[in-house]
Amino acid sequence: MMLQTTVFAAARSRAHGPTAALWHAVELHRPPAELDGACELTVCGSLARIAPEQAWPLRAADVCPSCTTLAR
Ligand SMILES: [Zn+2]
Repeated sequence: MMLQTTVFAAARSRAHGPTAALWHAVELHRPPAELDGACELTVCGSLARIAPEQAWPLRAADVCPSCTTLAR
């Protein structure tokens, strides 16, 4: 039996044109301690900056619906 746990981090995108800033999920391939605030590719394919102090899933109103569906 193989146990596989995918860990996600919460990342905040920036408002871009008509797109509001949203919380996204980023699949972690590194320990969160090694994240240095760089932009990472989110589960839904955009770029967002990881907020190490936030855990995914977030209980916030402005969470990306695509990431909510894909990262669970
Ligand atoms: Zn997203």
